[in-house]
Amino acid sequence: MRLSPRTLLIPAAAVALAGIAPPAFAADAPERRRVQVVMVNFADSAFPDPAATKALLQKSYFGENKSLTSYYNEVTRGATTFEPAAGGILDPVELPMSAAGCDSSKISDLTYEALEKKGITEEDYEHVSIVFPNQKTGCDYLALGSVGGGTTWMPIDGAEISMTALVHEFGHNFGYSHQLRERCASTDLASCKASEDTSHKTPMGGGGWAAGLTSPELIHSKWLSGEEAVKVAKSGTYTVRSLYGSGAGVRALDIPLGEDRLVVEVRGASGSVDGRISGVHAYRAPKGDYAEATLVDTTEADHWSDKGAADADALAAGTTLTDADEKVSVKVLASGGGKATVAVSLDGVPAPGEAPAEKPVQEDTPEGSPQEEPAGAEPQTGGEEPAAPASDSASADEELAETGAESDTAVPVAAGGALLLALGAVFAARGRRRAATVRSGRHSR
Ligand SMILES: [Zn+2]
Repeated sequence: MRLSPRTLLIPAAAVALAGIAPPAFAADAPERRRVQVVMVNFADSAFPDPAATKALLQKSYFGENKSLTSYYNEVTRGATTFEPAAGGILDPVELPMSAAGCDSSKISDLTYEALEKKGITEEDYEHVSIVFPNQKTGCDYLALGSVGGGTTWMPIDGAEISMTALVHEFGHNFGYSHQLRERCASTDLASCKASEDTSHKTPMGGGGWAAGLTSPELIHSKWLSGEEAVKVAKSGTYTVRSLYGSGAGVRALDIPLGEDRLVVEVRGASGSVDGRISGVHAYRAPKGDYAEATLVDTTEADHWSDKGAADADALAAGTTLTDADEKVSVKVLASGGGKATVAVSLDGVPAPGEAPAEKPVQEDTPEGSPQEEPAGAEPQTGGEEPAAPASDSASADEELAETGAESDTAVPVAAGGALLLALGAVFAARGRRRAATVRSGRHSR
């Protein structure tokens, strides 16, 4: 299967991390994922200062702050973490190939061969991240990651690595596609049409690594408990709290919409993420595939020229999304202060508490307010939502990224009319690395 190429614009995140809040929930036993980072040299191109590059990689992948590991520690709230594979970051391996042509499949084939010769096998890691000097490759991408696989390709120019790309490519390894946006002519969900615009709510949708993951992505990876991501089975009215805020309670509503699911969340600044994302957002997960979810946008905001207003596409209080065929309606009764009250009506049955619309959200809702907490919903704790400093970290930089093909046969590439690249054979040959490769384009500096 081959999907059409998509051209994405991804803002690079120059993230100013400030005062990371403690996680709201810490898993007892985090899933530890071992990353075999391997530096490789080409026959005609090598890292000029391997020790410096190794130090950069150690910090970027595994550092306590501003690293791949710290990002996923934060967004999974301690459920999943990364650590170096037993041998640590390997000294450069010499690949018997020239750099020119950026033959990604050959790079990974030869790298895996070299690892096996060193006695490092699939038993020793969950991810292999191949880092290579980019000076002579002519690669037209910023980085690559196999979707649902374990391989990432990270070309390095000079002494920098793109953290947005690193976090994004590991997102592909977790199975996420690029997250796009449906444009809706009205709040009638039947009026929504797919677009090539990205959601801007996740590193997988142009949000950079200043954005957390969206609730559909967290649900896909089982990083929200059943109490946090409530599967709505009958009409009810819910208090939903900020996805990355502290305290217990409902963080996402997972609503049946025919064959699809409609997922509703509240976003707001917390720790080092979501400084520019706020308010109520809804996503459609086609046929229940949360990794392929799209943002449902009922506004006409132009999010590229509108960088200062990341919440211009939030669902304001009073908004009601409807799907007449499926007899589903979702009404935002109130939104603000890091939480929202949302009434969900299924099968045409009105939700209790749906009216009056003007009912304000209380900052300190009494425990277990019965009208707002249908069976299955976690009682409201009424805890304070500490306002995390909103680090406005938008950078003027943009990365022109590209593409995604959920395919194990070919990868179409659209960045700047670049070459098509077929990687299928590599992935077909190895179960672990099967799945599609998705590439991100290079910076348009
Ligand atoms: Zn990508």
